[in-house]
Amino acid sequence: MKKIAIVGAGPGGLAAGLLLASKGHSVTIYEKDNVIGGRSKRLKVGDYMFSQGPSFIVYLSAFRKLFEKAGLDFDALVPMKRLDPIYELNTPNHPWQLSGDFETLVKQVEDKFGEGDAYRAFMERETIIFEAMQEVMYRPFNKTTDLLQGNMAEFGKYVGLSSIRKKIKKRFKAPLLKDSMQFQSKYLGMTPDETPGFFTILSYLEHVEGIYHIEGGVPALLDVMAEEFKKMGGEIKTAHPVDKVITEGKKATGLIVKGKPIKADIVVVNADVPTMVETLIPSENQKKYTPKKMAKKGYSVSAYMLYLGLKEKLDWPVHTLLLSSDYEGYTKDLKKNKILSDDMSMYLYHPSIVDDSFAPKGHSSLMVLVPVPNTASGINWDLEEDAYKAKIYKRLQERLGFDVSQIEVEKPFTPVDWEKTGIYRGATFALKHTLLQLLHFRPHNAYQDVDDLYLVGGSTHPGSGLPIIFQSAIISAELIEKKHL
Ligand SMILES: Cc1cc2nc3c(=O)[nH]c(=O)nc-3n(C[C@H](O)[C@H](O)[C@H](O)COP(=O)(O)OP(=O)(O)OC[C@H]3O[C@@H](n4cnc5c(N)ncnc54)[C@H](O)[C@@H]3O)c2cc1C
Repeated sequence: MKKIAIVGAGPGGLAAGLLLASKGHSVTIYEKDNVIGGRSKRLKVGDYMFSQGPSFIVYLSAFRKLFEKAGLDFDALVPMKRLDPIYELNTPNHPWQLSGDFETLVKQVEDKFGEGDAYRAFMERETIIFEAMQEVMYRPFNKTTDLLQGNMAEFGKYVGLSSIRKKIKKRFKAPLLKDSMQFQSKYLGMTPDETPGFFTILSYLEHVEGIYHIEGGVPALLDVMAEEFKKMGGEIKTAHPVDKVITEGKKATGLIVKGKPIKADIVVVNADVPTMVETLIPSENQKKYTPKKMAKKGYSVSAYMLYLGLKEKLDWPVHTLLLSSDYEGYTKDLKKNKILSDDMSMYLYHPSIVDDSFAPKGHSSLMVLVPVPNTASGINWDLEEDAYKAKIYKRLQERLGFDVSQIEVEKPFTPVDWEKTGIYRGATFALKHTLLQLLHFRPHNAYQDVDDLYLVGGSTHPGSGLPIIFQSAIISAELIEKKHL
């Protein structure tokens, strides 16, 4: 049995905790906040509840695999429902609610755009790509030779240098249909023309495998994980900020927590990697990754958030993607990471339509997420925020008939606020997922500069997003088991 200290009780830290505690290790998670969850924590504002970040649940097999590897039954512990429609794509003249049943969706595509056959063929090919990717998602890329192992040859066939935008443009004609398979680059905080083409598997996951709603949202899932972790003997210490990783030579030997040294055989870090390099890694251990080198890497955009409690019951679906009038122009603006676009896209999460725990009866809980430049842009939110918020409300009113007078509670959250939580540059979706920042080129699960220090979370392999973060925890926990048992 090893003594393992985990920095952070975000989804990555909790997942690693579950896996390691289930193997009988003595595991303690130190979390700087008063609550667990990190970017996925529960927000309570007045009588309304929100999930601070994640809301889309796709790729259920990765959730199931995490629970199964910890000896737990995901379906028994986490009540959820499959959504139909999966979401509304809202453009100025053409709102489209995409069916949650794939055969019906193919028919919608045929009836609306006359491209049903091409769409079905595309999704059939995506199924093969998705299968080929599985092996790559569950193993480490710690050595250059890992790039030649396993399923890489098969996976490599599909990677290519094409972007999502180019890949989709070749296959489809109707602009809205194309948007339905490229807006997902938003989840990576990137634009379709910089996102590698194989990420079209995100639309495959939504359109074919479906989108789910977990009762109580993602915070409820994290509560279950924390409870099961504690039942296995794990300990979570909230309000315990970690000041430093202790090293002896190249080896991690513990943590300094609230000024006190704590010994550990193994350290797992869930904090954002560039912030970890800047604040937690002793300077003598900064070799491959230094603050200066981290500053040169590519980071995702940020998100301006509005958490709204409404006096009225909206009839909107759970998820709405309100797309810019000129989506391509908007994403070009976003890529420059400099200005706040007036023709913004936004994502609306309205869980109270299917889940009473989010708002009082007859009321609505609404999260508005607007992708915006990260803090490297130098945008002064103190000066810009009020005017930008007014533009967002105006757009919501024009497109969806939103009535501002129904707002009972309002909690905004800017890129600067995200940065204050420890997210480097407020880049909410982590290091960019470009080819040169993926696989072997992303900070390794077994951290290169410090032995017995492992990474979990969005800035290590395989990348950002809940199921992918769970995969990083599976990889790191298996590396620990392999080396230390
Ligand atoms: C607005 C938004 C919407 C999103 N939507 C989705 C979605 O719909 N679906 C999806 O799958 N994913 C989504 N994501 C992505 C996903 O939520 C995040 O990638 C995920 O929460 C990140 O998890 P993590 O474990 O990597 O890190 P975090 O959630 O950031 O957790 C890190 C934890 O470490 C703690 N910590 C940091 N430093 C220290 C320290 N020194 N001492 C102690 N504790 C420390 C932090 O307080 C935090 O609790 C979204 C993200 C955001 C921001």
